[in-house]
Parts: sequence; C-alpha cells; structure tokens
Amino acid sequence: MTTSADSRIEFTRLPHPGPVPGATRAEALADPGFGKLFSDHMVMIDYTEGRGWHDATLGPRGPIALDPATAVLHYAQEIFEGLKAYRHDDGTIALFRPRANAERFNASARRLAMPELPEDAFIEAIRQIVAADRDWFPPVAGGSLYLRPFMFASEVFLGVRPARNYKFIVIASPAGNYFKSGAPAVSIWVSEDYTRAAPGGTGAAKCGGNYAASLVPMAEAMARGHDQVVFLDAAERKWIEELGGMNLFFVFADGSMVTPPLGGTILPGITRDSLIDLARDEGLTVREERYSLDQWRDDAQSGRLVETFACGTAAVVTAVGTVAGAHGSFTIGSGGPGQLTTKLRDRLVAIQRGSAPDPHGWVMKL
Ligand code: PMP
Repeated sequence: MTTSADSRIEFTRLPHPGPVPGATRAEALADPGFGKLFSDHMVMIDYTEGRGWHDATLGPRGPIALDPATAVLHYAQEIFEGLKAYRHDDGTIALFRPRANAERFNASARRLAMPELPEDAFIEAIRQIVAADRDWFPPVAGGSLYLRPFMFASEVFLGVRPARNYKFIVIASPAGNYFKSGAPAVSIWVSEDYTRAAPGGTGAAKCGGNYAASLVPMAEAMARGHDQVVFLDAAERKWIEELGGMNLFFVFADGSMVTPPLGGTILPGITRDSLIDLARDEGLTVREERYSLDQWRDDAQSGRLVETFACGTAAVVTAVGTVAGAHGSFTIGSGGPGQLTTKLRDRLVAIQRGSAPDPHGWVMKL
C-alpha cells in the first residue's frame, strides 16, 4: 500500500452558497446538545492508490453521493477520531493534544489496512475547518466545537480486499454537555452476554464496526435504566475493560489508582493518558493493571475502593455512581462524584480551557 509522503497538502477553498444565517445559528447554539448540530463547512481529501492524497478542499458541509457498491457500505472499512476545540477567555482557539489524535488515527488506519494521513495534514484540516466555522462555538458553560475527522473506503468494488480509494473528511459539531442531564454520576450496566473486543481484534482501533457491535449491549443498558455499558474481557469475562466510549479509573482509599492496561482490546484514550500524567503530577500512584468485576464489587463493599470514574473527550471525566449486572448491583462510595474525580476533572478542564498553566505542552493554539 502506498502512503503519500507529502504532508504539505494545499487546500482549495470552495465558496459557500448559503451558510446558516446568524440569528438561526445563535438560536441553535443556545442548546447545542451533543452530535445533533453541525457547522457550515467540511474538509475533504481524496486518496488514490499510486497517487497518494490529493484534492484537499474546505467547502460547504453537505451530503456526499455514494455508489451503492462503495466498499465501506459493505465491509465497514472506516475509522474516525473525536477531539474538541475550545475558545479561551482571551478569544484564542485551542486544541487539546491534536497530534495524539493524528497518531491514533494512523494506528487505526494501519489496523484497518488503510493509508496513513500525514499528521500535519490531519492537523491542518482541523485548523481549516475551525477557522472557517469560528462562529460556531456555543456560548454555553462547558461548550466546545467537537471535531470529527473520519476516513472510509470509497472504491466502488465488492471484492473483499483493502480498497484503493479513500475519502478523509472533517466535520464540526457544536457541543454542550454530553450527558443529557449533565449527570454528576452515571449508572452503568455490566454486559455479561456481549463483549466489545477480542484479543487480536480491532478493540484498540477507532473503527465504526466496534461501535456497531456495542449498540445492542448499550441499548440493553438503557432499557434497564442505566446510562452506559461496561464491557468485560472476551477471553475470561472477568476483567473490566472500558465503557462503550470511555476508559475507566478506580480510586482506592490509600489514594492510589488503577486503570486497565492497553492490551489491544481497549481504546488508548487521550484523556486516559492525560489523567495518568496529572495524577502522577499530584504524587499519586497509578497502576495500569487488570482489575476484575468481582474485586471491584468486593472493594466497593469493603470501602477499599472509594471512587470510580470514566473519561473521554466527549464527557471529559464522569463519576460512576452505581454498577449493576445480572448478579446484582453495588454503589461506589456515596454514589456521587468523589474528591479525586472532581479534582482531576477540574485540573484537566482548566488546562483545556486555558485557565491554568499547561505544564505538559498539551494545548495547541490555532
Ligand atoms: N474508549 C472508547 C471505546 C472510545 O470511543 C473513546 C472515545 N474516543 C474513549 C475510550 C476515550 O478516548 P479519548 O479520551 O481519546 O476521547
């Protein structure tokens, strides 16, 4: 497979015939929710085997016509990323660790037999859409512009092999709070019938198929009145892996923390990685080691475990209040957000939003 070595992709700006009028936009931005509102523009870059990446455009967001035999519609050769742009108090716009998203995107591309996109092109694509849609930041507490870069097999061909043509697209979605209620602590359901990823599978890649496979257990959790589903490992159905879209941390009474290790079956979250650093900055011990459902229940009941939280770009840091499964339920601590959960969340949000120093150099100002 060929990969373009040219990271200096030139973007052509296509005129927008009818951006959303300012008054309509302002009304929509007052209550953006998550993933339901979209900005005016999108970036597209095409890939052709033998030619590499070409025809990069920033243009009006709109439908894309696909032949019914387009490979992605049949074999799901698709990957995506998710990151947020923040408007700081001084008016500047900042991204949080976009290069980590570019690296993970390329790791996903390798797993799905897709061409890598030069990291600089990934970041430049984001810079282009954020500059064009800078009026789409929601003026609400916790608001941001969520960016969704993705790539799919666009070749019209029904054979099962890596496609020869791809499209890379970035769209932007103004975001408020991820959980409808802005829930202080979520209730999660342990999926014992379904797993998310098996050893050797695609669990560490951010590919659409992983999320398709998580929908039935997620719907099961919601039907039972829970907010999220937690997956166990596929081999032993014993070890905690992650939620459908967030990594997990366990906080103990002695102040130490555990998070499941990156063994190929969970997504290497950028929030996870950042929180490990922030916790170590605080002098805490963080262990990346396996933790079982049975131990979790025992530790919550004995008081050895005092907090559990989930983390990811969309919801940042969210306390887990209760855990339920086929074998009963248990409450973590008081059932609300614990001290360390709140402290780490505040520290991370302050760095992302530019109200605290950035000792690790994570913030990229655009
Ligand atoms: N796990 C899964 C399955 C996810 O989809 C996400 C969201 N990308 C995460 C964890 C958290 O990753 P990040 O902190 O990079 O958003």
